[in-house]
Amino acid sequence: MNDVVIDGVRGRIEALGRRVLDGGAIDREEALFLFGLEDSADIHDLLAWGNRIREHFKGNKIHLCSIVNAKAGACSENCSFCAQSAAYQTESPRYGFVDPEPVAEAGEEANRNGVTAVGLVAAWRGLKEGPMLDEVCDRISEMKKQGKTRPDASLGLIENQEVANRLKEAGLECYGHNLESSERFFPEHCTTHTYEDRLRTIGFLKKAGIKICSGGIIGMGETREDRCDLALRLREVGASVVPVNILNPIPGTPLENQEPLPPLEILKTIACFRFIMPTKEIMIAGGRTVNLRDLQCMIFQAGASALMVGNYLTTLNQPVEKDLQMLRDLGLDPDWEEFDEGEANGCGCGEKESCATPETTEAVTA
Ligand code: SF4
Repeated sequence: MNDVVIDGVRGRIEALGRRVLDGGAIDREEALFLFGLEDSADIHDLLAWGNRIREHFKGNKIHLCSIVNAKAGACSENCSFCAQSAAYQTESPRYGFVDPEPVAEAGEEANRNGVTAVGLVAAWRGLKEGPMLDEVCDRISEMKKQGKTRPDASLGLIENQEVANRLKEAGLECYGHNLESSERFFPEHCTTHTYEDRLRTIGFLKKAGIKICSGGIIGMGETREDRCDLALRLREVGASVVPVNILNPIPGTPLENQEPLPPLEILKTIACFRFIMPTKEIMIAGGRTVNLRDLQCMIFQAGASALMVGNYLTTLNQPVEKDLQMLRDLGLDPDWEEFDEGEANGCGCGEKESCATPETTEAVTA
């Protein structure tokens, strides 16, 4: 019997999927083709390949992270999606840098839920040398000593190498710093700092030997091309973990009336990210409950391999137990620590040989 030859769109998706499974990469034109898929049957083909690629490179292990808001509100920056910017009137709480106790409690709770990393997230422009850096380093060292969970952080822009080196010395293994969108679209949602500032921060962190958790937020009015270019840039900078946030429009912010993305468009984006970064941790973070509703479990079929659990910075998530049940029902294993040794000791980036630092976390904003 002759082999069935599949041509057209379906055949092209399959050819790209097979190439990625074989360790190959897709280029911008090919990625744009995937992002541009419109037909529901084609999108479902793409999701199936996203799932296959995830399984091939990640097995059935799902990496869980959580965050603790270490300093809330009154941020000097004007990111148009963010409830914590001082530029907008929102209901978001405001408080200064947290004491050690709430951070220790967050570590305990994460440990009870099998969450491997807790990220300290602060709403401010960034971190400079001085008393605040000392305090941040103390908190990271305390979490490290407590040994309940891996301390990560997302503390905004870093202005020089020394700051990154201090964080590394304190025991930080991974830093969350999202690029948020394409370089082209960035000035549409933030004018108080630049894409270049964010890239420079990532450069300092990489030089210090800190793993990069960097992704973005979709649904802000950007085009598919912007999403594609974000993913390609994240591949280029070598992000180990890639959080995909989906806009949850916050009353009082400029994006409060933004039309939500259709769930299939969100799932397609996740699959495209998996095609572009097949070995990385694609983590679904803020906005999944409100935007995907009953389709949340399909994020894994689209290729996601990590999940932000617990509440987000300014919005609520579904209970952790519900997320854990969802993973069990799908036959997925959230118990990262029991994964094979190479991955258990790695950051989850899929680079077993070159990866020297354990695991990572999420950064919803900052
Ligand atoms: S996203 Fe981060 S930097 Fe931007 S306003 Fe919010 S807290 Fe500030």
